[in-house]
Amino acid sequence: LGAGTMGAGIAQVAAQAGFETLLYDIKQEFIDTGLGRIRTFLRGSRERGKMSEDREKQVLDRLHSTTKLDDFKGHSLIIEAAPEKLEIKRDIFKQLDSICGPETLLATNTSSFSVTAIAASTQHPERVLGLHFFNPPPLMALVEVIQGDRTTAQTIEKATTLMREIGKTPARAKDTPGFI
Ligand code: NAD
Repeated sequence: LGAGTMGAGIAQVAAQAGFETLLYDIKQEFIDTGLGRIRTFLRGSRERGKMSEDREKQVLDRLHSTTKLDDFKGHSLIIEAAPEKLEIKRDIFKQLDSICGPETLLATNTSSFSVTAIAASTQHPERVLGLHFFNPPPLMALVEVIQGDRTTAQTIEKATTLMREIGKTPARAKDTPGFI
């Protein structure tokens, strides 16, 4: 959610791992920029012989896009990578909380805000956590998995498993400034 530097990179990682992936931004032009960056990265991999043309096409086919938050309904995991402003993030989580059932995991990629403070804008803070990727997401293995005060152990386990499935190295981190 957010097709900028981190959001587009995270979407690419998920699509490369075989997941149907929805990329959201507030305007189509921002989505187009993010998708353009992904296409350039994949083309580079193909030209260096690291990816076949078939695989490149499969990855691109798994990437879908939208400017409507409602389209996230029914998804298993949403990773928010919107600008680093607390009120923007709290507003997004409040909206997602009403759109998605409690089985959908809601993760923030925030670098500095408390997961607990973001989760407090929702009715279901037990499914809210931090998944802190590093830049550039397709190349950096580490993902900090952050448990807020009300995040359940089950949420952390499910998210940790998903991070392994997308080829990342999850590391548990406390909900303190700067995490690890
Ligand atoms: P960015 O500015 O490149 O991308 C942010 C995107 O969010 C933009 O495409 C913007 O159009 C979109 N956006 C604006 N308002 C929105 C809204 N209301 N809902 C959804 N999307 C909205 O920023 P970035 O560098 O990708 O950072 C995103 C998040 O990731 C921040 O929380 C940042 O702290 C965190 N982060 C950044 C880095 C990094 O090195 N850039 C590393 C780790 C974590």
